[in-house]
Amino acid sequence: MSDARQMPEGTHEIRSFLCRSDNIGVLIRDTATGACAAIDVPEAEPVLRALDESGWTLTDILVTHRHGDHVEGIPEVKRATGAKVTAPRKAGAAVPEVDVAVGEGDVVSLGDLSAEVWETPGHCDDHVSYVFRDAGVAFAGDTLFTLGCGRVLEGPPEALWRSLSRFLALSETTQVYSGHDYVLANALFALAVEPDNARLAERMAQAEAAAREGRFLIPTTIGVERETNPFLRSDRPAIAQAAGLSADATPEQVFTALRAWKNRF
Ligand SMILES: [Zn+2]
Repeated sequence: MSDARQMPEGTHEIRSFLCRSDNIGVLIRDTATGACAAIDVPEAEPVLRALDESGWTLTDILVTHRHGDHVEGIPEVKRATGAKVTAPRKAGAAVPEVDVAVGEGDVVSLGDLSAEVWETPGHCDDHVSYVFRDAGVAFAGDTLFTLGCGRVLEGPPEALWRSLSRFLALSETTQVYSGHDYVLANALFALAVEPDNARLAERMAQAEAAAREGRFLIPTTIGVERETNPFLRSDRPAIAQAAGLSADATPEQVFTALRAWKNRF
């Protein structure tokens, strides 16, 4: 099992790598046509290096949201590769050098692969996620993280809960790539919420091993997150009680309380 990949064989390949201090750079390539997209460009150098090492030719840049740590490398990478830049319409001119503006319901093609565009506000108003449903991969940017979720910068918290809920409807095996590696900090918080969750304890051990080896637990899967990510478990009475609410609190109330607790944690 030297080069085993948990994805449908022969359809696509993915590379992920660290950018800046804790951003995750990702390349996805359609093996049939060679079309290749970077999801965000936190900084140019690691993206260009990954292209160099892989021999892949960048055709597209898919932007999740306008924050500087997701778009700063776009001009340099576009200059070097001529890639087409697709970005959320709601980000307007805050994303540099956009060729195609997208919103809810649009479909983005990458060779023979295609992605649904989901508007997933909450972290910020313009945030979109790219869901390659047939390929079984979702790029969640700063919406859903391994064992956590993005900060609510433009809110309200309920908007981020609704955005996260959409991911719960994807199949369990769907792989999720997030925009940052906050796995260890997220695992500590998740254990504070659910100290008796055995699956979570196992996940903590995996997170620690990954950190020792200089890896990160990305991608994760919807199935694993359902069992371990406290924010995705906001509809459970036990989580409501852990957050100091009554067992019949709504998921929106529970999520809001968890997010506030995490900010203080
Ligand atoms: Zn952000």
